[in-house]
Amino acid sequence: MDYLQKISVPMSLPDITDKEREAVAKVMSTNYLSMGPYVQSFEQSFRDFTGAKHAIAVNSGTAGLHLCVRAAGWSDGDRVITTPFSFVSSTNVLLYERITPIFVDAEPLTGNIDTVQLKAAVEDLNSSEAAAAKWLPPKGDNGGKLKGILAVDVFGQPADFDAINAAAKPYELPVIEDSCEALGAMYKGRPAGLLGDMGVFAFYPNKQITTAEGGLVVTNDDKAAAIIRSQRNQGRAEGDTWLAHTYLGFNYRMDEMSAALGTVQMSRIDELIRKRNQAAEWYREELSDIDEIELPHTAATTTRDSWFVYVIRVKDAERRDEVSQKLKALGIPVRPYFSPIHLQPYMQERFGYEPGRFPVTEDLGRRGLAIPFSGMITREQIAAVGAALRQVF
Ligand SMILES: *Cc1c(COP(=O)(O)O)cnc(C)c1O
Repeated sequence: MDYLQKISVPMSLPDITDKEREAVAKVMSTNYLSMGPYVQSFEQSFRDFTGAKHAIAVNSGTAGLHLCVRAAGWSDGDRVITTPFSFVSSTNVLLYERITPIFVDAEPLTGNIDTVQLKAAVEDLNSSEAAAAKWLPPKGDNGGKLKGILAVDVFGQPADFDAINAAAKPYELPVIEDSCEALGAMYKGRPAGLLGDMGVFAFYPNKQITTAEGGLVVTNDDKAAAIIRSQRNQGRAEGDTWLAHTYLGFNYRMDEMSAALGTVQMSRIDELIRKRNQAAEWYREELSDIDEIELPHTAATTTRDSWFVYVIRVKDAERRDEVSQKLKALGIPVRPYFSPIHLQPYMQERFGYEPGRFPVTEDLGRRGLAIPFSGMITREQIAAVGAALRQVF
């Protein structure tokens, strides 16, 4: 098909205008490359956008999640419930603090954590070691207590946080929301990021907004915010001088060039989300007649979409890799999405996981294929992806 040859379709593109370029250039001619006014204006834009009391910018989403784990007070040997269907960060931040991740499988429609199983896990882990056993990894658990929940908004859709919070509440478990894929999404009219006790956004170039590298924590909890602010900045407490460190901390600060870029991106947030949602709608139009694939499902609880990636599922798992290779040969970049966390080599080695343990996650992992997606993709490029898929099947 020559039509296909003529069109190149990037996997993802950031949406950057001259306004962003000018803002970054302006920072370069000041004396404030770090700890200046732009980080503050970037944080303000998040308080305005989400209504959060506190917004704390950091240099990656992973850094933000790590600081939330520290603020939750989870540490050595504690157990924390999370999902194996995610980007590795959400589990790695637990491992950084020597916490045992307790995985609960995903639910098949959205890929978000299965809240029926989550509730059972919370109850079992709080009753007896015999009841807890079925949730524990084959090895590597230290017999600690269940201390909290870290749930993920998968592909831009909020997890069912009313159910998650209801399971957590009787045991006063802190809940962290990994909202790194869901900036701008709404759950029953409430903004993603504020659905648990602390939430985190990320700004790698393929996210809804970018700062190149960057992340940000939102919370209404004053105490958590103070810990996160301090530990982002080498453990300096309010009033500490440059070489005074009240706490053990990190350098997780965002720089001014990133914050300038992010501030302009936030001034365009409605436009950026609208363009992504438009692209998802075009994909639905273009692909809905292809019987061999399933299109993404939007939960009734998602009251505002904010698409992060567009992941189709190949119905026949056996064919996914062949489809992927053929699409690539036709010039369409695609990626398997996600690759289950419990089956990453270091996780298998440390916790003894083997295939078969989390069937829904593994099925989604075997059948999922992220196709080119961003707010910059054109209708014509989407038609080219559709034509390539039709040709492959
Ligand atoms: C992007 C992302 C992160 C954070 O990524 P960074 O590259 O550290 O900014 C965390 N969790 C999920 C689910 C993500 O998609």
